[in-house]
Amino acid sequence: MNILAIESSCDETSAAVLSNGQLLSNVIAAQLIHEQYGGVVPELASRAHQQHILPVVERALTEANIPKNALSAVAFTRGPGLLGSLLVGASFAKALALGLNIPLIEVNHMQAHVLAHFIEDPAPAFPFLCLTVSGGHTQIVLVRNPLDMEVIGQTQDDAVGEAFDKSAKLLNLPYPGGPLIDRYAKAGNPLAYRFPLGEMPGLDYSFSGIKTAILYFLRDRTSDNPAFISENIADICASIQYTLVQMLLIKLKRASRETGIKEIAIAGGVSANSGLRTALTQLGTELGWNVYIPRFEYCTDNAAMIAKAAQFKFEQGDFTSQAVSPLPRMAL
Ligand code: ATP
Ligand code: MG
Ligand code: FE
Repeated sequence: MNILAIESSCDETSAAVLSNGQLLSNVIAAQLIHEQYGGVVPELASRAHQQHILPVVERALTEANIPKNALSAVAFTRGPGLLGSLLVGASFAKALALGLNIPLIEVNHMQAHVLAHFIEDPAPAFPFLCLTVSGGHTQIVLVRNPLDMEVIGQTQDDAVGEAFDKSAKLLNLPYPGGPLIDRYAKAGNPLAYRFPLGEMPGLDYSFSGIKTAILYFLRDRTSDNPAFISENIADICASIQYTLVQMLLIKLKRASRETGIKEIAIAGGVSANSGLRTALTQLGTELGWNVYIPRFEYCTDNAAMIAKAAQFKFEQGDFTSQAVSPLPRMAL
């Protein structure tokens, strides 16, 4: 069984080939054009997808050494994501499946972030909890089986990736600033400055308060010393990262306590954060959790995770029709 999967929900054009459960290729073309605008510009993103999609798919097939006519199905991200971006991947996948007369499989991008854990061993045992943290989402997901997931906690406003990126913007760092905060934080003191953890009820999150707190903090400090940011960039980044990671872990701990589940995974772009990876590993040792952290390349957007999700659907015979259209706000 050979599946070609396409991911185009945001600003990465990606294609992957999975053969009998094994990943043979995972090609990712990032779009650097957005950096100069300080965020993803939807119209530019969909145009870039149009330019990248054919070469990316061709490379994925070549690297996998699988000819088009040996494919068993074509999978694509149906949502959530930017409509124009999703349309490029969906149209391409539909046309290819039609041309080859093979089944089409639609994949939910957030479900795929969770299923990235099954690309390589060790995979979590069911049921497990997955903290999915990305540019657009922050969710605690109870995963009963590959295709049965329930969101038991989520952000009521910004995603944690947005909190990283907006904090970075306040520090005059280029977009996307999350990875840069991570890099500067390595040389800083996480306890140098204190920011409020903000309390949301239950298992939900809120990240809009901390953004405002950081804004006022920087305004006060830079009015005393205009060079405050550049002189203290490492300590500021370490303190912001520490606060965001603490916020994430407090609710994850509560979710584990309430469900009794000790199989704990993280997924999504922010799971690439080294502060989160280290703190979660330590917490897991302390609390007797089995912790699962994906390889870096399977944290941010990639088609390998789409292919893995598609494999589970293929096995269930869960195919989609040519009439399908993208869903920018697709629920899990
Ligand atoms: P979604 O998956 O919710 O649709 P998305 O696809 O844009 O959103 P991803 O590509 O999964 O999100 O993740 C991108 C986010 O991850 C960005 O906000 C980016 O700053 C953040 N990120 C990536 N690496 C790191 C890191 N090392 N530290 C902190 N944040 C990071
Ligand atoms: Mg992205
Ligand atoms: Fe994503």
